[in-house]
Amino acid sequence: MFENRLITNGKMPNTDGEYILYWMISNRRTIDNHSLELAISLAKEHDLPLYVIEPIAVNHHYSSKRLHYFVVGGMVDNYYAFKDTPICYCSYIEKYDKEGSGVFKAWMEKAKITITDHHPTYLPKYVGEYALEQNEHLSILVNSNSIIPVNLIDRDFKSAYQLRRWIHKNIENLMSEFSTKHPLQDLSGLVPAHQEKAEEIFAQTKARISPWDFVWRCALDDEAIREQAFKTVQLNMDVPEIEEVRGGEQQALNLLRNFVRKIDKYSEERRNLQPGYTSALSPYLHFGHISPITVVRTVLNSYNWTIDQTNPEFLGKSEGWWGLQEGVEGFLDQVITWREIGFAYCTNHKDHLDYQTLPEWARKSLAEHTSDERPYTYTYDQLENAKTHSELWNACQNQLRKEGIIHNYMRMFWAKKILEWTPNPETGYEYALDLNDKWALDGRDPNSYSGVGWTFGRFDRPWFEREVFGKIRYMSENSLRKKIDVNQYINKYNNQTLTSSRAPYKN
Ligand SMILES: Cc1cc2nc3c(=O)[nH]c(=O)nc-3n(C[C@H](O)[C@H](O)[C@H](O)COP(=O)(O)OP(=O)(O)OC[C@H]3O[C@@H](n4cnc5c(N)ncnc54)[C@H](O)[C@@H]3O)c2cc1C
Repeated sequence: MFENRLITNGKMPNTDGEYILYWMISNRRTIDNHSLELAISLAKEHDLPLYVIEPIAVNHHYSSKRLHYFVVGGMVDNYYAFKDTPICYCSYIEKYDKEGSGVFKAWMEKAKITITDHHPTYLPKYVGEYALEQNEHLSILVNSNSIIPVNLIDRDFKSAYQLRRWIHKNIENLMSEFSTKHPLQDLSGLVPAHQEKAEEIFAQTKARISPWDFVWRCALDDEAIREQAFKTVQLNMDVPEIEEVRGGEQQALNLLRNFVRKIDKYSEERRNLQPGYTSALSPYLHFGHISPITVVRTVLNSYNWTIDQTNPEFLGKSEGWWGLQEGVEGFLDQVITWREIGFAYCTNHKDHLDYQTLPEWARKSLAEHTSDERPYTYTYDQLENAKTHSELWNACQNQLRKEGIIHNYMRMFWAKKILEWTPNPETGYEYALDLNDKWALDGRDPNSYSGVGWTFGRFDRPWFEREVFGKIRYMSENSLRKKIDVNQYINKYNNQTLTSSRAPYKN
């Protein structure tokens, strides 16, 4: 069963195991979820009940109300999806630091087999490693958030072209590892799991299953009720929730459906700074509320695409190979090539946050220009609080703070200017990563490290040498203003009065 997506600790299943455990940390959904599919199949094979536990920890470096509100929205959808099935699904929202210590261990101890999600970055990466190392019995990490199965990533792709070519050549094989779309549709023969058992396991620790009405209140769009619920969670409140951006599988599917209707305009309009021209799916992909497989499959099915439509003359090209319209091809290139290049990179490089992982030519060239005079230099606080001379840059930073994202084109500009306006490239790199990871809903993702990394030369090539940037590709505010109308964007985002600060995170 999709063996290329599985990483195991090589241990034996627990002969006294009482259930199959699926610890849901990254594929927080029910559709196109290989982990869930495997867990159901193992529960059937071993004639054991299946418990699905979806936790969220309260104290990690970028923990915030913003992330909690989004994740909890997904828990509500999952609650409804599992309700009326023989599977016991429990959400666990940790209330205070270390309340949840030992919960995963307690669950693993009595599990015949533990399944959890593979994800190459931030907290899920550590939870995955913990599952492999700390379980005395069989743990399986399942990769379901990328198109390329994790075990097929056997090399470094230095450019998008290299990876795209490889994907084009292997597409049929890759598609054969796609998941069963609706694993919950066939639960016949599954032994029922009971909430009492789940309570018993939680009771061995300080933690308790989060009551449904609490989860539901945290996810509510009524601010007063939500505030009351959140008061009981010892959470960093510096980064507020974005009420309009609800998390969850249902919302992700709605966005996808709406986007597919206008996908043909994607290439033409994706630089348009008004909302609505791109899919807005990145936070949902990040938290696994939707699978990239669902996205790609939906797009291809809506055009009744078949493999014989591909055009080998365009092998490795960003457009032309799929035999589809320009907008569709443009979108597929982003959600496949550009997303996968980051995923593959972070999977291969556990130290992906490290400045030293940038290409040698880029570091060398930047080092040669470290002593160049910067046109402006700003501190972390000035950048975070959007206090630069550039109203356009401030608008980008304010969009990030207010909406948890920056429009892709402006995001490149935003990061390029951080490189230009900080005392040295190492500091610029650290600030850009930190601001993105702290404020962006889709931050802490492989795309975060490929996006910021790209700004500093990763997956790019040397350009003409210039001050400060060396051979790194440059972006100027003047030429950007000539290409797109930024006035409305500036007006929209420059009325913010938020302030805060927190030390950057180190791997
Ligand atoms: C400095 C910088 C930082 C970035 N940080 C992040 C981040 O933290 N998280 C994140 O998901 N993306 C990041 N990106 C990539 C990109 O900005 C976002 O993925 C995209 O803007 C999300 O909007 P969307 O979902 O509407 O994208 P769409 O245009 O609708 O594209 C669909 C999906 O394709 C993928 N995608 C699109 N553009 C890119 C790209 N340039 N690189 C990689 N994947 C892409 C995303 O998964 C996206 O959701 C960053 C880019 C830069 C330049």
